[in-house]
Amino acid sequence: MKVLLVDDEQDFRETLAKRLNRRGIEASTAASAVEALTWMKAHPELDAVVLDVKMPGMDGIEALKHIAATHPGVAVLMLSGHAHVETAMKGLELGAFDYLMKPVDIEELVFKLQDACEHKALKGKPGA
Ligand SMILES: [Mg+2]
Repeated sequence: MKVLLVDDEQDFRETLAKRLNRRGIEASTAASAVEALTWMKAHPELDAVVLDVKMPGMDGIEALKHIAATHPGVAVLMLSGHAHVETAMKGLELGAFDYLMKPVDIEELVFKLQDACEHKALKGKPGA
């Protein structure tokens, strides 16, 4: 499973990437929405994006709109602090697969990523 973590907090994204890598999930990181979209152009084999809602510049909702339009096969999980949970939920209306709250429970994140990839696999099967 290949995942891109997008968050403006460096320690957060690097720590989370390490924890996912230890669990056999190949996690790359991006510090901004623009960096993420650029990275995705070069890595079309991506399975899922974990997307922070609150970032300087382009926020998670704007980034989600771009991803949903250009990479419809990539599952997006919105990531939010408690202050922005409504924004994260709005993401579901815009095509996000799911959302989760900070601080991230690593088991919950792994479960949701697996769930997202299973749905993706089903979508790709003829007749499903
Ligand atoms: Mg942030």
